[in-house]
Amino acid sequence: MPLSSAAPIISSRQRPASRGLIERDAGLLAHPYAPVDEPPLFAVEAASGARLTLRDADGTSHEVIDGMASWWSAIHGYRHPRLDAAARGQLEHFSHVMFGGLTHAPAVELAERLTALAPGGLPHVFLADSGSVSVEVALKLAVQVQSARNRPQRQRFLSLRGGYHGDTTGAMGLCDPIDGMHASFDGLLARHEFLPVPPAGSRDARGEWSYDAQQLEQWRAQTTEILQRHEGELAGIIVEPVVQGAGGMRWYPPAVLRILRDLADRWDLLLIADEIATGFGRTGSLFACDQADVVPDILCVGKALTGGYLTLAAVLFSERVGATLKASEHGAILHGPTFMGNPLACAIACASLDELGVGAAPEASWARHIQRLEGALRTGLAPARSLNSVSDVRVLGGIGVLELSTGVDARRVSQRAVKYGAWVRPFRNLVYVMPPYVTSDAELGTLTNAMVHAVAEVHG
Ligand SMILES: *Cc1c(COP(=O)(O)O)cnc(C)c1O
Repeated sequence: MPLSSAAPIISSRQRPASRGLIERDAGLLAHPYAPVDEPPLFAVEAASGARLTLRDADGTSHEVIDGMASWWSAIHGYRHPRLDAAARGQLEHFSHVMFGGLTHAPAVELAERLTALAPGGLPHVFLADSGSVSVEVALKLAVQVQSARNRPQRQRFLSLRGGYHGDTTGAMGLCDPIDGMHASFDGLLARHEFLPVPPAGSRDARGEWSYDAQQLEQWRAQTTEILQRHEGELAGIIVEPVVQGAGGMRWYPPAVLRILRDLADRWDLLLIADEIATGFGRTGSLFACDQADVVPDILCVGKALTGGYLTLAAVLFSERVGATLKASEHGAILHGPTFMGNPLACAIACASLDELGVGAAPEASWARHIQRLEGALRTGLAPARSLNSVSDVRVLGGIGVLELSTGVDARRVSQRAVKYGAWVRPFRNLVYVMPPYVTSDAELGTLTNAMVHAVAEVHG
């Protein structure tokens, strides 16, 4: 801005301090999928362990259990000593350097560890800056691989109805065509093919899945038919393994993944597993693909990767994909974000893996925590079954869902839950939680009690 600009420059110090943050935010900051002038419900003043300290518009402070783990990410809770120390330690070195032509210890260490943990030991890693970007990279990689196999016309994808893969335009095109608001971006989105929502399944306390085998056979037949029709145009299949998250918080039996793996092999499609929400233990296995013993060709992880500290995602891919890429026209993934491989984020991600205790399953700390969360969510949410407004109660690993028969009054349910000591953020007809792994038994009791009471009071 030129110095002669006539507009008065108000420094932040001069802003009237008395005005509350919520008031200052309203109409200024856009929030996710919220009307631009709708004020946010609370300002966060502090966060520690599984707890947030919220201040409302009247200035009242509330200490609540964070049922959302900041959208699946804050698995170790807030201000975790080990993650804080990793961030400080890396700050003493450098916060960021470009990744073109350069490398650094946090990125190398993280990539080595991710490949060692991933299903099938996927040996190549591309570090991306968010989940959606990792999905974009996976799509580009799949198309490049098909081109290298002399099938440049294969540029479309098969996705599942009820799915969610991110908010960038490439990823959006793969989200459920209705919920994903495809109609609003008609000219912008690529046209992909969609498989029906897979038949639902449930897993009992011993880890056994039950589902309708006949429904699954029907689904396989429909899927096969769609594949046959579009075979020549398809580069790959993208799927959220076992749990469809933001598209509806549903789960399906791992047998579905085995069918998709089989079909992908048969038609030479790349299977892309989007484990951005499910990765790092949330569903009861380190990766949801592990429950099906399926190895994808391409795997996307994000969200919990840095324990919710910083934005970072990774795309892992197989030896075979890597070999094809090397032999392709460019020999490289045609992507390179400015903040690729951010050292601070990578250092924290390494500390998060340390904290998960991965490598020592089933005694690993994440596995014990998830088992504990699953038990507490089952017990704590069971009373909701008797509510008239609740049509389904389901729990899988560290995920608990109350499905209502009508849309949720999200603002009122959130506000009511805060009165009972919990932060939840419902969407559509779903009131759900995926708490930090460190949430104590007593905190889980508070959380589930708050969900049940808030739904009962607002919806009956
Ligand atoms: C959240 C999510 C994404 C998008 O990740 P962002 O970091 O929000 O871009 C993609 N896929 C799945 C399954 C997700 O849950």
